[in-house]
Amino acid sequence: MRLVSPILHRVIYPLLGSMGYFHSRAPAPVTVITYHGVLPSGYTTEDAFLDNTLVTEESFRSQLRLLKKHYNVVSPDEFLLWLRKSQELPEKAILLTCDDGLLNHLSVMVPILQQEKLKCLLFVTGSSLGNTREMLWYVELYLLLMQAQAQDEPLLVQGIVVPKISDGAGQRRSVWLSLLKSLSHCDVAARSCFLEDAAARFGLQPSWKMRYLDDPLLRDRFQLLRLPELKQLADAGMTIGAHTLSHPVLAAQSLELASAEITECRKGLEQSLGREVWAIAYPFGDPGSVGAREFKLAEESGYECGFVNVGGVLNAAAARFTLPRVHVTAEMSPSVYEAHVSGFHDALRSRFA
Ligand SMILES: [Zn+2]
Repeated sequence: MRLVSPILHRVIYPLLGSMGYFHSRAPAPVTVITYHGVLPSGYTTEDAFLDNTLVTEESFRSQLRLLKKHYNVVSPDEFLLWLRKSQELPEKAILLTCDDGLLNHLSVMVPILQQEKLKCLLFVTGSSLGNTREMLWYVELYLLLMQAQAQDEPLLVQGIVVPKISDGAGQRRSVWLSLLKSLSHCDVAARSCFLEDAAARFGLQPSWKMRYLDDPLLRDRFQLLRLPELKQLADAGMTIGAHTLSHPVLAAQSLELASAEITECRKGLEQSLGREVWAIAYPFGDPGSVGAREFKLAEESGYECGFVNVGGVLNAAAARFTLPRVHVTAEMSPSVYEAHVSGFHDALRSRFA
């Protein structure tokens, strides 16, 4: 599949897309789409790898219009009623979701959703229950590693081994991936001590990250919603779901930490918003980051469903705590987007897996 991917993306999908094939086939009863945000206009890409999870305003608007034209975008409330078996959904139903709770979800996405008269289920972390200006810890770690001075030897920072750091971005990304798991073992306070200490040890100024929080465009891109902004998001008619307290790799955590991440996020959101929080999206959401233990914890914590971040068929018989989603990336052309949304790409992948 990996070898034929460029042919699919550049030749087959554009051809099938131009023929209207994707929306004429019978897709899964419901398709859930995951966004991670919309880049504010005027923003210049900081890092193509990091920014690949966000789409431009233009792409977002044209994707929504394509969905409205050929599919039936349902609201989170309609989806919940379907899940509870109280209501049928129209055929080719689509549910929009968005993860992480960044400022651009309120400042850029919501106005476009409102213009298109669409609703979205937005998953936020415990950071959005407070009033401090923060970035996602693993994004901060990524930016820090990309700006760190090269290190010839591994270093011990706050008891965690940081492999040597070369000049290449690829090698720095692999250091980042290994630290994602090591730092997920820790609680939030230990993680933030590590980040502060690591910045100093790698030759960065103490104020290195302030530009991401002070500059208006970078702030929209990187800063997490605080409680007043989260309330605005809910007041704009959007549904709020949980994305854990601090976005760790849950599978790398002790049972105690993982349980608190899942349970306390729901409690905190319900108390702060005065609304029921019925869904969780597991951070990262791939099989290496979340598994049977977390699905059980989510069910025991009182959620009605949980979403992963991998594709698959969602029908009435789907397991409620492993609901699949289609992950949208910036590099998707309109035909590749529709190949994924229609379920065609996933059906092809399962056939050849
Ligand atoms: Zn996330």
